[in-house]
Amino acid sequence: MRQAHGGRLQKVSVDAGFTCPNRDGSAGRGGCSFCNNLAFTPGYLREQRDILAQLDTGIGFMRRRYPDTRGYLAYFQAYSNTYSGVAELRALYERALSHPQVIGLAIGTRPDCLPDEVLDYLAELAERCVLELEIGIESCDDGVLQACGRGHDFACTVDALQRAAQHGLPVTGHLLLGLPGETRDSIRAGARALAELPLAALKFHQLQVVRGSRLALHRKRNPDAVPLLDVQTYLDWVADVLERMPPTLRVQRLGSEVPPALRAAPGWDLRLSALPAMLDAHMRSRGTWQGRLLSVADTAG
Ligand code: SF4
Repeated sequence: MRQAHGGRLQKVSVDAGFTCPNRDGSAGRGGCSFCNNLAFTPGYLREQRDILAQLDTGIGFMRRRYPDTRGYLAYFQAYSNTYSGVAELRALYERALSHPQVIGLAIGTRPDCLPDEVLDYLAELAERCVLELEIGIESCDDGVLQACGRGHDFACTVDALQRAAQHGLPVTGHLLLGLPGETRDSIRAGARALAELPLAALKFHQLQVVRGSRLALHRKRNPDAVPLLDVQTYLDWVADVLERMPPTLRVQRLGSEVPPALRAAPGWDLRLSALPAMLDAHMRSRGTWQGRLLSVADTAG
């Protein structure tokens, strides 16, 4: 960001009132097993429906926290933020861009919500503002995706990433490590597949059991069915991914923090800000680095 824009850019969440195809019945009902959107929606967004008012509140907060911020991106984060027709998307995005301190958009969505007409419009937007497109990959293993009720397979992700690249759009992928059924081998195989795809950046999240999600209910009934990663195993898996990815891939996030009142497990007892240094030390102790195994078969790794 400093190289490209001369300083820090800060994302400010907005909730534009979207839903997602895994909730309204077109891909599924009840949502992904791990999802409770309240976990990543700041409280002020539920009180203010107007996007500009949301941005005012969010920017006021961020300005106090990060006074050196050079510009703000309206972060369409809750649910699937391209799940609508182009005319409706245009009205929402343009309203956010009309805020005098907003210089761009970050748009989070599912891979099955990116038809070509939406990508055409996003490519047009990217010509005149900073635009980040974030796609929830979550897992590269079809069995894991099916078990968490994701409502799309990995081929859908591959297709979305390739078409976004054809439109000249850099994509940040979200990975959720530790979903039921995921193993170290499936993580490594997934990283191999991702390394072949046009990804600009990754965001890593550890699986957290969020109150109100289907996973929380499942775990309450049968705790053994939902084993959770400890910090060291999580760092091992993140390192496994990174050593198979190109050295040019950017890492935007190394973990997420659900508000304590909503988090049922795990209790890691650390601040997110500690994770980068912990990962650095972990990778040094393993004698590895991002890209080390990019062209090495896994039998050697
Ligand atoms: S995680 Fe995203 S796709 Fe899944 S139910 Fe929640 S909002 Fe929908």
